[in-house]
Amino acid sequence: LLSSTTRLHSATAEETDKAGFAAPPKEINRRRNLAIISHPDSGKTTMTEKLLLYGGALQQAGAVRMKGEQRATQSDFMEMEKQRGISISSTVMSFEYNDLCVNILDTPGHQDFSEDTYRALAAADNAVMLLDAAKGLEPQTRKLFEVTRMRNLPLFTFVNKMDRPALDPSEIMDQIEQEFGLETYPIVWPIGDGERFKGVLDRMDNVVHLFGKGDRKSKAEVETVPMSDLETLKARIDDQELFDKLMEDIEILDELIAPLDMDRVIAGDQSPLFFGSAMTNFGVQLFLDKFCDMGVKPLGRLAKVVEEGKGKKGAQSKLDQDDEPNDLVNPDFGEFTGFVFKTQANLDPKHRDRLAYIRIVSGAFQKGMKVGHSRSKPGKKFNLAQAQTLFGSDRESVEVAYPGDVIGINNPGDFAIGDTLYTGNQKVAFPGIPSFSPEIFAYIRNPNPSSYKSFTKGIDQLLAEGAVQALRQRNDDGGGPLILAAVGQLQFEVVQARLKGEYNVDSDLEPIGYTLARWAEGGWDAVDKADADGKLFGIMIVQDRWGRPVLLFRNDWKATGVAEEEKYLELKPWSKPP
Ligand code: GDP
Repeated sequence: LLSSTTRLHSATAEETDKAGFAAPPKEINRRRNLAIISHPDSGKTTMTEKLLLYGGALQQAGAVRMKGEQRATQSDFMEMEKQRGISISSTVMSFEYNDLCVNILDTPGHQDFSEDTYRALAAADNAVMLLDAAKGLEPQTRKLFEVTRMRNLPLFTFVNKMDRPALDPSEIMDQIEQEFGLETYPIVWPIGDGERFKGVLDRMDNVVHLFGKGDRKSKAEVETVPMSDLETLKARIDDQELFDKLMEDIEILDELIAPLDMDRVIAGDQSPLFFGSAMTNFGVQLFLDKFCDMGVKPLGRLAKVVEEGKGKKGAQSKLDQDDEPNDLVNPDFGEFTGFVFKTQANLDPKHRDRLAYIRIVSGAFQKGMKVGHSRSKPGKKFNLAQAQTLFGSDRESVEVAYPGDVIGINNPGDFAIGDTLYTGNQKVAFPGIPSFSPEIFAYIRNPNPSSYKSFTKGIDQLLAEGAVQALRQRNDDGGGPLILAAVGQLQFEVVQARLKGEYNVDSDLEPIGYTLARWAEGGWDAVDKADADGKLFGIMIVQDRWGRPVLLFRNDWKATGVAEEEKYLELKPWSKPP
């Protein structure tokens, strides 16, 4: 990945002194980031709660859900999350555990929001795939796994609900290997399932953790027996068949499973595998302990770095978006850098606020610091007076934050997804976060002319958040109906619910029967030529928000045909913002 021209941006002592923004190595090393992906109902909320419980961030399990409900009463948008039992807005939850600072990035489970998941994963350094033991891989696990692959993150697997009748563990391993081409390495191995779930063997430490159905709300007190004490183990398992099977399984695993290779784990080629029952607190702490050992600490990111104001094409030039990022900005770089991976407005309807969520890549955030912004003019600085960490709906003001952390800052309106903020004389730009190619389209109209202003404001805001994309008819100079473009139907519903809830405006949607968008990078001349030659019959020609041509197709084969025959159109599934 790293080209030979890669320059390493690490803080030298001199730089650190001068800038004063370097993050202490201790703070970098003690951070662990984790995104949880799962099919709805596999137990992500429960798992998150239990993790927070071990981290002492919650006194009682149930609080995440409770916070969820409180939040849900705040607006219709959140109400929709509640009704549908889906989590739309990814948040970040942090806690301290054994001297480590763990940040959990929540991701929406529904595939209509995989784009949001992708953005959250852009901020993560590790991910865990949570499976329901009785169901194995499910549709959303498959979709979200593809999204994880795009980032090549180390991926852990946690098989949940072992207290219920489960698939055979080796069957789950086979599913993952065959469907995803991902090898798993059982760090723990289950003994029985459902009523006969006895516990798990920790294959790293050679101890068995015995399952005792404890108080669901508190940390489980588990009894452990070392493998060296087979007599005790046998007595405690108290099930000859399961004991024998365990002995057999151990042999088979040792023989057949490739050894754990941390390089392959880090490359996302081998997935450390866990079994447990989040609801009964079983196996969660074991997972947390191993994750803290094995998970990668905050990583550097490739970026483009140029002297502020110099740029490649002379003074004042912007960074050339097409240049490949070839500078590795490491967490110990002596300047603060971070990128926006999510923006959201009106989290609290009482304060019409806008937040940008920043993943810190290098240096220390300090309250009140002044930063440059990748898409603003050189020399323009923004004052980060307020920053918050978010915990469900609670916010806490932050004084300092370090690489791997996520902070929410007030968004003056200039910060968009993918933008970089930085201190120092060098302009830094991390590569943008790509948008997914939309697959459904609909006109959106305002049925009440009197609410024109609120409608426009709401739409603009939701577009800025990347809730959906927008297109216009070719000759529309701004007066015509907007065409919303999304990956999934629920995105439209969220837009309508939020327009109503946050801007108090109604909206009409009229679906358009196209299923595919292709940006014509060949430009309008190319599109006109193809059109004049009669090649674009049945294809809708529209423009994106920058006036660039986009073709909407009814089906895949038509798009493929045109792309192959009219190469000068240079059809692309998406296009980088100019
Ligand atoms: P999410 O949709 O993935 O966030 O799933 P939830 O955490 O809301 O859990 C879905 C349902 O499964 C809830 O009724 C949970 O109580 C239940 N559940 C979660 N973990 C377990 C588990 O380990 N065992 C059992 N039996 N039920 C669980």
